[in-house]
Amino acid sequence: MCRHLAYLGPPVSLRELLFDPPYSLLRQSWAPRDMRGGGTVNADGFGVGWYPGDGEPVRYRRAQPMWSDPTIAQLAAVTSAGAVLAAVRSATVGMAVLDGAAAPFAEGRWLFSHNGVVRGWPDSMVPLAGGLPVRDLLTLDATTDSALLWALVRHRLRAGVKPARALAETVTAVAVAAPGSRLNLLLTDGHTVVASAAGHALSLRATPASVVVASEPHDDETGWREVPDGHLVEATATGVRVRALAEV
Ligand code: GLN
Repeated sequence: MCRHLAYLGPPVSLRELLFDPPYSLLRQSWAPRDMRGGGTVNADGFGVGWYPGDGEPVRYRRAQPMWSDPTIAQLAAVTSAGAVLAAVRSATVGMAVLDGAAAPFAEGRWLFSHNGVVRGWPDSMVPLAGGLPVRDLLTLDATTDSALLWALVRHRLRAGVKPARALAETVTAVAVAAPGSRLNLLLTDGHTVVASAAGHALSLRATPASVVVASEPHDDETGWREVPDGHLVEATATGVRVRALAEV
């Protein structure tokens, strides 16, 4: 199962956020502490998206282990941002290993990641995929469950559905179509982070001015809260709300 995280708050260096903590995302790529969904390492790709200012995010993603790419280490050392979404990937068996299959998926200000698996792929998704514009299906980033989940969320965002609702509706629809799926979704526009805990672990740590939402805590310091399964987090740098998915 992949690992992902989002950060909002005062600018931090990507190295401080993704490389330095004792159980950093980098370390989670070879020694995650919680792989309850199967798999042992997250070596099939990684990606980082960050907001350099008030505009659209910059994204860097590769289909190789995070530890084997010198460029991300160099970039991280010289880049700071006040909003970041990053992920390391363990491809589900049978799914392509390509740059385009690594999160974050992106459009405009949006960055998106999925930690989990859609059961019965691809057959279970035929009815929901059939409701998307053909163009969206022809231009999927990759033929993976995560890329399709992004297309389903994005379709709702484009229609003006609020982010929390777009995520909750997508989780609910996919859970009905593909029971047993693990659907931890993570979405940000650089100001708000929305994340579902649906079949996999999710934690958060908030201070008065910052928040980290992550698949697993990246250190043993105090302040981490586990998000209960079936719940949705909505966070800004200064406030966090956790609700049952059914109440969103
Ligand atoms: N199933 C997705 C993929 O293969 C997500 C992977 C994961 O969470 N391990 O890309």
